[in-house]
Amino acid sequence: MLIRKDLCVGCGRCQPYCPVGAIHFEELKSVVDQEVCYECGTCLRSEICPVEAIEESPYVYEYPRALRKFFSDPNATHALTGIAGRGTEESKTNDVINRVVPGEVGVAIEFGRPTLGMDLTNIQKVTRAMAKAGITEIEPENPFNDVIQNHTTGDLKPELMGEKVLSAIMEFKVKRDQLGHVLRTIKQAAREVDSVFVVDVYTRLEPGLTVPKEVIEVIEAEGYTRRPNAKINMGLGRANKRKDA
Ligand code: SF4
Ligand code: SF4
Repeated sequence: MLIRKDLCVGCGRCQPYCPVGAIHFEELKSVVDQEVCYECGTCLRSEICPVEAIEESPYVYEYPRALRKFFSDPNATHALTGIAGRGTEESKTNDVINRVVPGEVGVAIEFGRPTLGMDLTNIQKVTRAMAKAGITEIEPENPFNDVIQNHTTGDLKPELMGEKVLSAIMEFKVKRDQLGHVLRTIKQAAREVDSVFVVDVYTRLEPGLTVPKEVIEVIEAEGYTRRPNAKINMGLGRANKRKDA
């Protein structure tokens, strides 16, 4: 993001709107620190500037910086997938789509949070650990797939290593008996990561609308705090992708 020096009147109203503190005063005008800025668009979207001095940088869609916008601005549509947002919706509509069927567990690692974000060097520590744990296939429709250079090693594209994102989601699924190992590996990798992330686990419900007991037992045995979050699709309008479900 840029602030036009010729228009800015130095009122400072825009500064608290930046979730990462990228806007500061220089010679009584506000300026954006380009290294700190995630291109999230919050300052522009807030329409707080009385003189419309805030404007998108001409290079915001240039690769690799464009990664910041695609994974930080919730209104941005990823150039590769055409999907707005950072993940896919299937974890929320799984009861219709059946990406994850009985006997499988869906896992999503949500890197970064507003005010913190995460750089790609830290994200790579997790992707490498997951590759070592045998996770070499991630959800192909998720734009995160495009940042990975080598699925076998978990290496990310080297040209992206100077970039950072407010939020990116690595989605994959495992057999139920792999879940403990995967959760343990994520926890170990977290010790090396200099930011925050959330781990989502989702399953099909069992008859009687209960979460499979074995899944809960594994989560608790690995020392995770559960925060149940039910998002259940009513089954209208979307075709079941998997005939074996
Ligand atoms: S685009 Fe986002 S990170 Fe950049 S200055 Fe504006 S609010 Fe801050
Ligand atoms: S709100 Fe606009 S005029 Fe006020 S400091 Fe920010 S850019 Fe400058």
